[in-house]
Amino acid sequence: MTGSGAMKDGSGKVERVLLRSRVVVPVTRKGTLISKGAVLIDNGEIVYVGEQDGAAGRWSKDDLVIDEPYGVVLPGFIDTHVHLAQALIRGFVPDSVTLIPWLRDWVWRLQGVYGHEDGKASAELCVLEMLKTGTTTFLEAGLHSRYGIDGIAESVLSSGIRAVLSKKVMDMKGYATVEDALPEGMVEDGEECIRQFLDARRKWAGAGGGRLDFWMGLRTPGAVSDEMFERVSQLAEETGSGVTMHLAEVKEDIRYFASRGFTPATFLRRCGLLGRKRVYVHCVWLSEGDMEAFAASGTSVAHCPSSNAKLGSGVAPVVRMLEKGVNVSLGCDGGPSNDSYDMVREMKMAALFQKALHGPQSFTAWDALEMATVNGARALGLENLIGSLEVGKRGDVVVIRTKVPSLTPYTDPVSLIVFAATGRDVAHVLVDGQPVVTDGKVLTLDEERVLRKAEERFEVVKGKFLIGRT
Ligand SMILES: [Zn+2]
Repeated sequence: MTGSGAMKDGSGKVERVLLRSRVVVPVTRKGTLISKGAVLIDNGEIVYVGEQDGAAGRWSKDDLVIDEPYGVVLPGFIDTHVHLAQALIRGFVPDSVTLIPWLRDWVWRLQGVYGHEDGKASAELCVLEMLKTGTTTFLEAGLHSRYGIDGIAESVLSSGIRAVLSKKVMDMKGYATVEDALPEGMVEDGEECIRQFLDARRKWAGAGGGRLDFWMGLRTPGAVSDEMFERVSQLAEETGSGVTMHLAEVKEDIRYFASRGFTPATFLRRCGLLGRKRVYVHCVWLSEGDMEAFAASGTSVAHCPSSNAKLGSGVAPVVRMLEKGVNVSLGCDGGPSNDSYDMVREMKMAALFQKALHGPQSFTAWDALEMATVNGARALGLENLIGSLEVGKRGDVVVIRTKVPSLTPYTDPVSLIVFAATGRDVAHVLVDGQPVVTDGKVLTLDEERVLRKAEERFEVVKGKFLIGRT
């Protein structure tokens, strides 16, 4: 790496960056690869994508130059379903429990004793892992006020990552047909949720030069009244906020809607909650009719294959959804359900499950890569800014280094990245044209401190959780 990056008016920001690499995979069209490629970023914006020869004369020796002769340059990964608060409880929850008791007896009880320090420690741990494994943008599923929303937003902002945070919105205590599923520590008042959402949106949407946005994350069906669904729909229209929610993750969700004469999509349509920037998570049990309603309205699905498999929830009908024209993106979900926030590994899981079910031709490495990049951008309504490497988009870029045994010999880079790489092969990450990971090291967070803090806060959370069980 050479050049100073031409510091900009004392802000410490890198003004111009040139990346040169073995190949650039812009994810503009399936199959497009630029051998000996280059990407030039000026003030956060991509100004050149093409062959290295074509970049000559466009850059100066003052620019930051990242030369990776064994690198694959890709758009940053977009994780459209993340629970920041769950990184702290990875490995502690048994792996033999199905979704509703897993939430009711373990995850929600653990999260229900969190204070602000725990929420912040977990968020920093999660962001650290995401940055190191090439995630440049994520959608948070929904923050409880007890995690400390402002503290988390500050940490996310200063880490340099791009994010859509969200406030969890609820006004009932159930999960689908199971009443009183939520422990006291997780229950929130509906009016208070709305007030906090509006407050957080005012403070954080657009922060960091547009790197942050703030949405509503509805809690699961059974925890939200019809009135609240309609209120959220109206507020989303008024504020421009997106909405996300877990949906049809298990069959109980379908039974819950059916008992009231609806399918998930017919219910959401009635509430005005289908459309752009509406991201429904899992959708393992979506019917053909619901897929058509999603496709026609531009509603997105965040697919979380590892989480669905670990909890025995099933395998989402991704091939069918894509055939119907649904925008399907990818998500890692949470610490206890995945148990990693590594989108490179998640791409492989997505591809393998669909291949196992429908044959090897049904879902390719390129399909997985698109889900992790351009489809994610579309889900968040950010397709004009991120998701592919194109002139005019923001400089959110990942470089994976192939000079390791598992990626040698160099053959088809997309196949190698999806099936053979892991996030640990990520060497460099830029968000908005700013380096946030260099040679595998995160520049914006003190890794030692984040890991130590996570160990400390987990002990506190565990202690409170165990007292609560006795
Ligand atoms: Zn989730």
